[in-house]
Amino acid sequence: MKLGRELLSAQAIQQRVRELAEQVSKDYARIARPLILLSVLKGSVCFATDLSRYVTVPVNFDYVAVSSYGSGTESSGVVQLLKDLTMEVTGRDVLMVEDIIDTGLTTSFLFEHVQRHRPSSLKLCVLLNKEERRVKPVPISYKGFDIPNHFVVGYGLDYDELYRNLSAVHVLEPD
Ligand code: 5GP
Repeated sequence: MKLGRELLSAQAIQQRVRELAEQVSKDYARIARPLILLSVLKGSVCFATDLSRYVTVPVNFDYVAVSSYGSGTESSGVVQLLKDLTMEVTGRDVLMVEDIIDTGLTTSFLFEHVQRHRPSSLKLCVLLNKEERRVKPVPISYKGFDIPNHFVVGYGLDYDELYRNLSAVHVLEPD
């Protein structure tokens, strides 16, 4: 597989991340304690980090990790928690930050997992959404872009651990 055409430019991504951060800042302007930005390793790190730089309310960072595609491009459908929350989220406002939602299986698993800790609120912020692939519905509060059903890389997203450092999002193509 090789790097294909650019789907979203670095500039378009940064512009949209700023807009999402503005909306988040407005919605959480009156919270009593810092907003917990909970991102999913490793793919969401670029997005969550950039988002946090534009958000104007106080934030805390936490991370979870789940098993996903491994080294291929197809989801196994089986989600496993590899790294749990380290912060106490009970009674706190939590914003789950996701790189991409495909079938929705990973996100709904995580959403239910965090919900069991009884946060005072839990919302979902996702950069890329592949709506046509959805198997399980997920409640998205903040969405960056709807994209077609391609396997994409860059801006945190990998293929075999490569391409995460690209500032644009590209389609992956066969050799
Ligand atoms: P879902 O459970 O929604 O099917 O998949 C979620 C996870 O699969 C994402 O967090 C991501 O790790 C991976 N994934 C889904 N689509 C893509 C894609 O187009 N490119 C990459 N690199 N990963 C993807």
